[in-house]
Amino acid sequence: MTTDTTSAPNFIRNQVQEEVEAGRSGKIVTRFPPEPNGFLHIGHAKSICLNFGLAEQFGGDCHLRFDDTNPAKEEQAYIDAIKEDVSWLGFEWAGPVRFASDYFDRFYAWAQHLVREGKAYVDDLSPDEIREHRGTLTEPGRPSPYRERGVEENLDLLERMRIGEFAEGEKVLRAKIDMAAPNINLRDPILYRIRHASHHQTGDRWKIYPSYDFAHGQSDAIEGVTHSICTLEFEDHRPLYEWLLDNLPVPSKPRQIEFARLNMNYTLTSKRKLKLLVDQGIVDGWDDPRMPTLSGMRRRGYTPASIRKFCEMIGVTRADGGLVDIAMLYHAIRSDLEDSAPRAMVVLKPLKVVLTNVPEDHEEVYDVPGHPARDDMGVRKIPFAREIYIDRDDFMEEPPKKFFRLAPGKEVRLRNSYVIRCDEVVKNPAGEIEALHCSVDFETLGKNPEGRKVKGVIHWVSAGHGVPLEVRLYDNLFLEEQPDKDKDADFLEHLNPESLVTVQAIGEPGLADVTPESRFQFERVGYFCADRHACRPGELVFNRTVGLKDTWAKIKKKG
Ligand code: ATP
Ligand code: MG
Repeated sequence: MTTDTTSAPNFIRNQVQEEVEAGRSGKIVTRFPPEPNGFLHIGHAKSICLNFGLAEQFGGDCHLRFDDTNPAKEEQAYIDAIKEDVSWLGFEWAGPVRFASDYFDRFYAWAQHLVREGKAYVDDLSPDEIREHRGTLTEPGRPSPYRERGVEENLDLLERMRIGEFAEGEKVLRAKIDMAAPNINLRDPILYRIRHASHHQTGDRWKIYPSYDFAHGQSDAIEGVTHSICTLEFEDHRPLYEWLLDNLPVPSKPRQIEFARLNMNYTLTSKRKLKLLVDQGIVDGWDDPRMPTLSGMRRRGYTPASIRKFCEMIGVTRADGGLVDIAMLYHAIRSDLEDSAPRAMVVLKPLKVVLTNVPEDHEEVYDVPGHPARDDMGVRKIPFAREIYIDRDDFMEEPPKKFFRLAPGKEVRLRNSYVIRCDEVVKNPAGEIEALHCSVDFETLGKNPEGRKVKGVIHWVSAGHGVPLEVRLYDNLFLEEQPDKDKDADFLEHLNPESLVTVQAIGEPGLADVTPESRFQFERVGYFCADRHACRPGELVFNRTVGLKDTWAKIKKKG
């Protein structure tokens, strides 16, 4: 049933392949450079799979480097979570975990170098004034009155910025490039800002911190990165990236290559917005199973293989603006779990059924395959007795024509067991259905009743043997495909009020000793995963990973 999903084009991989075949490349070195200001999300997975994937495929190295130039927003907890997520996805970084802050001394020496060469200056304009002077896309910028400061004065001021003599915002170091450059990034970009903040790696040593642009390319150069892969927003920064490498005595010349970021429907991929969901308590932390974070997806039941497969399916292009259908992600996890998840019977909305012609003390046990196609998964023991539960949705008092499940006077097969007939509907005084009285046709175990057509098969659990489960039914967090499309509106307006529905279910007895993070197909219901944190013996908690209906496979077939 799993349609194969071949990989989509990846222009960067093709390019590297050509370089390798033409003998133009030495060892490939890439890097994944997260800023430790939040957890990694599915968009980062695309970048991780690309960077680590290239290193894997071409026998190179991929570094994990924290882009830690903004101490105000960064935390050790994020560093730990990011490392765990990358490892969980199955990738290994080459060498130690690196930090841009490892290179702060060298960056500072390079800043002094630029000053000495007359290519950088300390500016006293305020942040607002700098913005005003910068000009627009149609108007050139205006030079700062401090632009022509002498080298000695600049060196002195820079040093005093470093040791904390000035307040935040009082001064910045700027590159002296071209205030009339058509590319605004070249209009004397800021290289250093004053920040009186403690840094998670360097403590209180520094009172100035490099800008992203001043840190990124130089870190790449120090590490001998050959392909510095980033998302398209940085295309306009490339001339600056190259200017810095050309004007500094760097040990290597990496090349920046941009690709389109992943955007997916019903999903936010901005750390700032995800953080807001966490901070406002709208979700239960960064690893809430509804979050598109890797830790959330892990908790939800995604496998590393399914995420890697998804990243392969979406490919890598420079075409911006597309929205990937989340159905593709669901397809990737389904096709993985279809083959790898053992089966179980779980009734989400239990309705008691008394099998009136089964004696009180009757018990039989069926041996049922753990997985229909995998002998290596062994057998499950399924006990059968007089009282069972079926799902409320598998019974209708007044069924429409094509309802092949249970209804008064109608027959249905209990999966792996007998055909039963519904004889009586038991109601409470309020008229609500409390139980069904049914009878078993004992001639039907493993064979069809003669002369009667029983189309429906439903799952069930023995009432006396089943174990209670808390099942958390997760759905998309947003009802709108692009919750943040309208920049002026509040994306929280589009929250799905039913993104989490918790039910008390009954499962087959074998589930009693599951270990956290084990995954199952609950037959006829969907794929579920024992919660990493909450599931323990006697307190079983399962998260719905995804339902069974594969809309993406259908789309693929039609297309
Ligand atoms: P934010 O959107 O919150 O600013 P960011 O993109 O700046 O996040 P980083 O930690 O800087 O987050 O990202 C690390 C790497 O992951 C970068 O190389 C970045 O280009 C890449 N990345 C981030 N988001 C996506 C995405 N949606 N698709 C592909 N790559 C992404
Ligand atoms: Mg970033």
